[in-house]
Amino acid sequence: MAEILQIKCGTDNCYIVAERGNAILVDTGSAEGLEQVITECSKYKLKLIVLTHPHFDHAENAAAISERFDVPVAVNKADVEIFGNYDAQPLKSYGVVGKVVLGLSLKVLRNTKVRRPEKLIFVKEGDSLAEYGIDARILELPGHTIGSIGVDVEQKNLLVGDALDNWIKPAVGHLFCDYDTIKKTAQKIKLLGQRTLYYGHGKPTDNFLL
Ligand SMILES: [Zn+2]
Repeated sequence: MAEILQIKCGTDNCYIVAERGNAILVDTGSAEGLEQVITECSKYKLKLIVLTHPHFDHAENAAAISERFDVPVAVNKADVEIFGNYDAQPLKSYGVVGKVVLGLSLKVLRNTKVRRPEKLIFVKEGDSLAEYGIDARILELPGHTIGSIGVDVEQKNLLVGDALDNWIKPAVGHLFCDYDTIKKTAQKIKLLGQRTLYYGHGKPTDNFLL
């Protein structure tokens, strides 16, 4: 059975998913968390980095960790344009929480140039991570960004990135490039049934959409 370790990195979470010593890292945090994430990854045989999407708070350390451990970085092709250019897919928000979060992060989203990793691989809906030693598959969860993805581990634990968030209480992601699409993604997650949800922001919960 896979073990899921949450690493808090500023306001963002990244996750190590480990099974029999092998591990994947899902999101990498922002620069101030680099050493902490490297320390945690060093305890495992790191095989792959998955980026739910390339915003700085998830991806700023991706290139450095990829080089350090000599592992590829998996991302959805539709999001590659965001590396180094947040404005390729500008965010909007809903609600008071969304307004506050976007207001606080917009400047740094724009100004942090996330380096595109050299060892980039593209993943899509349904791709298995078995070759990296983990019983998990990629789910496309668009709406926050066009190419946002999640990782469904053993059909029990879903790492959602920013498709959903838990700033104060669990909710449909407060920031989105396309609201109709993120609402459809929430419906897709609902239809998965029982899951523990692991957010980019906030503590894990049960599938609150059920
Ligand atoms: Zn984001």
